[in-house]
Parts: sequence; structure tokens; C-alpha cells
Amino acid sequence: MERTTLRRIRQRKAENKIYLCAPVNALVEGIYEQNIPLAEIKKHGDLGLGTFNDLDGEMMMVDGEIFRVGSDGKVNQVTDESIRTPFACAVKFEPATNEALNEELSYNEFLKWMIDLMPSPNIFYAFRITGDFTYVKTRSVPKQENYRPLVEVAKEQPTFEFNRVHGQMVGFYTPAFMASLNVPGVHLHFLTDDKSSGGHLLECRPRHIKLELQYLYTLELSLPSSLDFLTWDFQRDIGQDLDKAEK
Ligand SMILES: [Zn+2]
Repeated sequence: MERTTLRRIRQRKAENKIYLCAPVNALVEGIYEQNIPLAEIKKHGDLGLGTFNDLDGEMMMVDGEIFRVGSDGKVNQVTDESIRTPFACAVKFEPATNEALNEELSYNEFLKWMIDLMPSPNIFYAFRITGDFTYVKTRSVPKQENYRPLVEVAKEQPTFEFNRVHGQMVGFYTPAFMASLNVPGVHLHFLTDDKSSGGHLLECRPRHIKLELQYLYTLELSLPSSLDFLTWDFQRDIGQDLDKAEK
């Protein structure tokens, strides 16, 4: 690792912290109600992603504003902070660096470009990516009853495609060894510039983008106190389910 990179990554600040309102394994098992109000999520950051109670759409938080992408692909801003979520992560976004990309990349090239910008695979990162995309493919999730595993729900997920679109993505990188807590690897949600559509990112071809990156060294994990969570047997290895449900 280069000296300048090492120096930069060692500039730890207390606010460089990722907050999770629940471990993702609860969501993967099909516990879609944790009753954590959005007001609680907003206390912990201004950038984030997640879902809503009953898995009723994809959530993203940009500049402290929360948006919901419904299963019809349409977006609405959520201003009622009493609305509840079973899973969300948030950060007070203060990017340490930013990078520009001015050539079209395939999705795999884009992921590699992102990974090369991260000096170590063993800490968390938060991202905001803004710009032009030749192609974006997203999904949202339809409202669910509890206890239907996420991998089953994901088989029926509606997907949406965008060509020559301007928008932004927010999300996180999570180390592989944290896979029961948060989606491992890169997890991004997309919002079009006019805030009319978006979703959980499945694929994209960026063309002209700016990426802002924050290093995160501390995890604040809240464990839910719902009866479902407290009594669930979390012995199952959810790795494969999570890979199928989120990729
Ligand atoms: Zn997602």
C-alpha cells in the first residue's frame, strides 16, 4: 500500500461509523417487521439504504431525505418518520476522497474499478456515485408476509432497465467476514436524477461518473427486541441465500 494511502486510511475519525438497525441475517430469514422508525435511522446518518416493514420497497437516503422505490419501480419521498423498517444502514457521509471515471465500463469492469479504489478489503466503505450511465438495471421487492425467506421473494422480483440515464447511487462495501451483519461486497441503490425511479442495483454501465468514498472503521449494530428476533434460531448459513437475493 502506498504511503499516502496508508496515511489517509489511518486518519480515523469517530464519525466514520456505519450504523445497522438490525443484522441482515434476520431479513434473509424472512423477518420483515422490526418496527424501527425511520426517525431512528435518520439520527445515525444522512446517507443510507435498506427496506421498509413488510419488505414494502427499496429504501435509500440521500442528503438526509428518504426515498422509497415501490415494486412498480416508481419513487416517492418518505417524509413520515414514524414509518418503520426491519433493516437499514446509514452513515454521516463525509467522503475522504473522490474519483472521476470518464470512459464506459462494463459492470464487471466497474466493480473492479471500485474495488481498486478501496485500499483494504477489511474495512467498510460508503459511496455516493453521481453521473451518466449508458445502462442501469435495478429491482425492487413486492410487499411480503413474514417468514418467507428473502431468496424466495427475490425469485419474483420486478426488474427495471434504464438506457442513457442520469442519476445517483448510494451504498456500502462490507467485508466478507461480516456477511451475517450486512450484505457483503458492494451494495448500491440507484435513483434517477428526476427522482422518479430507481431501485436496488443489479447491473450498470457507467459512462461519466464521480465517485465519493468514505472509509468506515466502526460498526454500530443495534439488535432488535422483537419476539421474532429474540427467539429465532440463527444457526443456518445464509451466505448462499444472500448471494442469490442481492446480486
Ligand atoms: Zn438493496
